[in-house]
Amino acid sequence: MLVFEKAGEIRQHRWKNKSETWGLVPTMGFLHEGHLSLVRRAQQENDRVAVSIFVNPIQFNRKNDFDSYPGNLAEDLKMLQAEGADLVWTPRVEDIYSTNFQTYVSVEQITAVLEGAARPGHFRGVTTIVAILFNVFQPNHAYFGQKDAQQEAVIRRMVKDLHFNLEIVSCPIIREKDGLAMSSRNINLSKKARQEAPVLYRVLQLAKNMIADGETSAKLLRQAMIKEIGKSKIAKIDYISIADPATLDELETVENEALISLAVYWGDVRLIDNIRFHKEI
Ligand code: AMP
Repeated sequence: MLVFEKAGEIRQHRWKNKSETWGLVPTMGFLHEGHLSLVRRAQQENDRVAVSIFVNPIQFNRKNDFDSYPGNLAEDLKMLQAEGADLVWTPRVEDIYSTNFQTYVSVEQITAVLEGAARPGHFRGVTTIVAILFNVFQPNHAYFGQKDAQQEAVIRRMVKDLHFNLEIVSCPIIREKDGLAMSSRNINLSKKARQEAPVLYRVLQLAKNMIADGETSAKLLRQAMIKEIGKSKIAKIDYISIADPATLDELETVENEALISLAVYWGDVRLIDNIRFHKEI
């Protein structure tokens, strides 16, 4: 497994054997089974797999979130080696952003809601780094988790709008045994918050089951979710959304499809999760 920091080294290696297909898995490191599931999927669909590990400063809207973001590069590399990844790109901030950097990629409408509304500047940071990664690496496929459902939609939009020549592949959410979606940030939860955080998945399932049982009112669904999360004294809801999965517009009435998503603070740690409802016709 090769590990490079510089874009030039990545480019050179990527094109050594022109007939090989490459899958790229962009991450911020502190890897867990969620990330590894993306690596495995990429291995099934490409000759070679590259993983990028970069905690991208420009996508953090809270300094404390950036400062407390966990990392353990040695452990990440061990895990990737064990998985059989071919290449890891571990740029330093200055390898990506030169001193006078002033070029950003910004997707419009679809970033105005949900995570985009709650975290100003976040998606501009995400699309800028992902565009840089795609431009340098030029993978055949790039792998993203449905855990960040809006991010996936935003990146698909960017790929289409900027005519990037690659395919985005989305992968299911990997969860702990108790239902908590795996996240690098989970390690920063207090003991009590870690015990209570599985409520997030429970309320997502609750809403999905209510819809399956005939409830169509987004307001009532939201109320039921708020009530359940409210049983935890330390959870602070940032948003609960019941939206059209394609446009991310909020729904008043759920018909055939919905993306139910939420963001909840546990002290200073903000967790997101989501579930999709599709009516079986
Ligand atoms: P991150 O390192 O948090 O930026 O995540 C890198 C990639 O892994 C993103 O595409 C995430 O959506 C994906 N990912 C993170 N957590 C999970 C999970 N629990 N299940 C599936 N994919 C995940």
